[in-house]
Amino acid sequence: MSFFQDTLSIFKKRDLLFLESYKESEDVYTFLFEKEKDLTWKAGQHGLFNITHKKIKKPIRPFTVASAPTENGVRLTMRIGDNPSDFKKAMLELKQGMKVRISGPVGSFYLKDSGPSLLIAGGIGITPFRSILKQIEAEGNRGDKKIHLLYMDSKKSYIYKDELDGIANNTSISVTYLDSRNGLHQKIDKFTSLYKNDGKYFIAGPKSMVDDISAYLQNNNISKRNIKKDAFFGY
Ligand SMILES: Cc1cc2nc3c(=O)[nH]c(=O)nc-3n(C[C@H](O)[C@H](O)[C@H](O)COP(=O)(O)OP(=O)(O)OC[C@H]3O[C@@H](n4cnc5c(N)ncnc54)[C@H](O)[C@@H]3O)c2cc1C
Repeated sequence: MSFFQDTLSIFKKRDLLFLESYKESEDVYTFLFEKEKDLTWKAGQHGLFNITHKKIKKPIRPFTVASAPTENGVRLTMRIGDNPSDFKKAMLELKQGMKVRISGPVGSFYLKDSGPSLLIAGGIGITPFRSILKQIEAEGNRGDKKIHLLYMDSKKSYIYKDELDGIANNTSISVTYLDSRNGLHQKIDKFTSLYKNDGKYFIAGPKSMVDDISAYLQNNNISKRNIKKDAFFGY
């Protein structure tokens, strides 16, 4: 998708019909919406979601579309803590038949079919990788292209774990679960020493974590042009 097409798609708005929501873990919820036939996106992209069923301040937030375009439904997964924002309260109040408005999907956080890729997720930053890996699984293996997911969560609360383990079983993709920065750095070092700047590096999660890992990669001589970042502010 060109930058021009990407910019244009932000002006495309449509209403999505809410189907259901459920808890993934202590403070993580998934929301499912109907996917109309002509709605598509690149696995890893995000949309701007607008609350329309009630009036709130700041009714718009960006969220990754955590489902693959080949799946039925538009899936959002978000962290909702003890003291939710008005936006998240409104999400929890959604009932079947209500709608939220989406602009997009947009963004350049998706895999291009080239070279080995290291995907690094911090906590809720797993959402774009669920979409990306589901899409690869649906399309069949990417041949001998190496894809390795490092999923770091200090509380070991790995959402989508069963699905990710299933994908690792059905494809050549490998998934490693980590709960410490040291462990994460060791796995990154292993990949960078093998593939250096022939590899592509994708990082998603809270902004501070994404910035730290990006700096770590660059200190290990990985060029900025080989690093893609999806930085979630607000955490
Ligand atoms: C591309 C992208 C994809 C995302 N995907 C997901 C996802 O899949 N799941 C998920 O849970 N979250 C995702 N997020 C984060 C999400 O958009 C919200 O920011 C987050 O959920 C916090 O929202 P809130 O309503 O809880 O808090 P907010 O009410 O938004 O506030 C939380 C904190 O963030 C600060 N803040 C708010 N807006 C900004 C801003 N524009 N710049 C800097 N600081 C700001 C506030 O001052 C406050 O301290 C994504 C963000 C981006 C940019």
